[in-house]
Amino acid sequence: MRLQVVDHPLVAHKLTVLRDASTDSPTFRRLADELVTLLAYEATRSVRVEPQDVVTPVAPATGVKLAQPKPLVVPILRAGLGMLDGMTRLIPTAEVGFLGMIRDETTLQASTYATRVPEDLSGRQVYVLDPMLATGGTLAAAAGFFLDRGAADVTAICLLAAPEGVAALKQVFGEDAPLTIVVAGMDRKLNDLGYIVPGLGDAGDRLYGVV
Ligand code: URA
Repeated sequence: MRLQVVDHPLVAHKLTVLRDASTDSPTFRRLADELVTLLAYEATRSVRVEPQDVVTPVAPATGVKLAQPKPLVVPILRAGLGMLDGMTRLIPTAEVGFLGMIRDETTLQASTYATRVPEDLSGRQVYVLDPMLATGGTLAAAAGFFLDRGAADVTAICLLAAPEGVAALKQVFGEDAPLTIVVAGMDRKLNDLGYIVPGLGDAGDRLYGVV
């Protein structure tokens, strides 16, 4: 497993505004979208491509195109949905699946309530979108699900992570698993309620309101 904390002034700036409790939902949604596009640029560094011939107005040239099978992007509902447009802006030809997962706020255990993902993920590169890597329970379940279905590798794009969640994923998957976490910021700790500190609060509520 590999962890990449993206070190870029624009990422840090947007993350700071996202953290601000006075940032309203429309601004939060727009900034999360922009931030994900910046993270996606780093997260897709190893996306597979194959040679593609092209004829320019001047001469033939050889370039690349995304290889088959196409990458699969999977937002974890609900909060991951706020990251989808930012990701598909960068790879519009990716296929999109959905995974609905909910965290029990007492036990902090993740359970799956909706799945729309191909049965066979052999050779697929999967990009999973989940804003908050807190206990790691949701991402561990999601990454295990994709790898069990044959995914070649899984890259999780997160806005914030807690050290406890990263440690839990390392324990579940080990150093050599084809799992990469790309995150805009690594925070201090989890609090007793399983929230990232200082974090940004409940990402789903900040994006969509308390429903
Ligand atoms: N989920 C959130 O939305 N926020 C946290 O801080 C932790 C989990």
